[in-house]
Amino acid sequence: HETILLSRSDVRSLLSMDAAIAAVEAAFEAHGHGRALMPPKVYLELDAYHGDLRAMPAYVDGAAGVKWVNSHPENPARFDLPAVMGMYILSDPATALPLAVMDATLLTAVRTGAAAAIASKHLAPRPPKTVGFVGCGVQARTLLEAHRAVYGDTFEVLCADVSEHAARAFADEARGRVVSLEEASGADVVNASTPARAPVVKRAWVKENAHVNAIGADAHGKQELEPAILLAGRVVIDDWEQATHSGEVNVPLQTGELRREQIHATLGEILAGKRPGRGDAPLTVFDSTGLAVQDVALARVVHAAARERGVGTGFDFFR
Ligand code: NAD
Repeated sequence: HETILLSRSDVRSLLSMDAAIAAVEAAFEAHGHGRALMPPKVYLELDAYHGDLRAMPAYVDGAAGVKWVNSHPENPARFDLPAVMGMYILSDPATALPLAVMDATLLTAVRTGAAAAIASKHLAPRPPKTVGFVGCGVQARTLLEAHRAVYGDTFEVLCADVSEHAARAFADEARGRVVSLEEASGADVVNASTPARAPVVKRAWVKENAHVNAIGADAHGKQELEPAILLAGRVVIDDWEQATHSGEVNVPLQTGELRREQIHATLGEILAGKRPGRGDAPLTVFDSTGLAVQDVALARVVHAAARERGVGTGFDFFR
């Protein structure tokens, strides 16, 4: 009855982006059909320590587990530790035996990139000639990797960031071009992944027939897009409860600039065939907050690959 322990480098060696996209797509579809179990995230606010811990449990298609992940922005400067450190516990739904305990930091970035590329695949009107990155941090890397997995290496990569250094480093890695926030926002597909609390992407910069992935807003009060962008096209969210509370739509819903009826559908509903996709809308926006079903779907893939390839360290918690 051993549990497999998997480090970040184990997870990296076991998880391909193609497999991740297939698993995350299936998880969204199950969510759209109402087949997944996903109680709301639980937040443990550790204000005295300037951080928080979150539990994200989910069950989908025979896989059950929980992600235990934090946000401690001062960690790098004060303790030489990462700001975010995620762990995943994957449990056998039949017996509750812990099948695997693994690093979930890379898992989180991979599932985030995968979700956005799935949204682009289903909502963008055609394969993009340009993909713009507003914010060139950790998520931008997997956003790019996932878009290349879907479209091949066929588009120009436009990199913009408030930090010139961040934009340059990403552009070098991605074989892309450093551009202004305005030019990146004018790409065929725009990936916004900043921690902004006021709009970065302006309505006037986004062109007709674009698709925008709004990734950065994942907590109350966060916002990256001028609300006029949401009003100009179809807004697709990942989950009603999470997105209205903490996604890109949370601020404009609160100020009354956006009404709930103006939100078109969840991505899962579109994948499940319950709601139409882009139609002839001039613009689409995918508002991603990050769902626990995405994590459990990937944890299952990692565990299956670890068993098949004999990767990881066995540990008996109950001996
Ligand atoms: P990161 O710190 O690695 O990168 C963020 C980048 O944004 C940095 O390079 C920073 O210089 C840049 N930036 C900050 N403010 C900016 C602004 N006003 N204009 C342009 N660029 C700006 O962070 P990350 O891990 O890439 O995460 C980015 C955001 O995505 C965070 O808000 C995080 O909470 C969120 N996130 C969302 C999901 C999801 O599933 N939707 C998953 C993970 C992270």
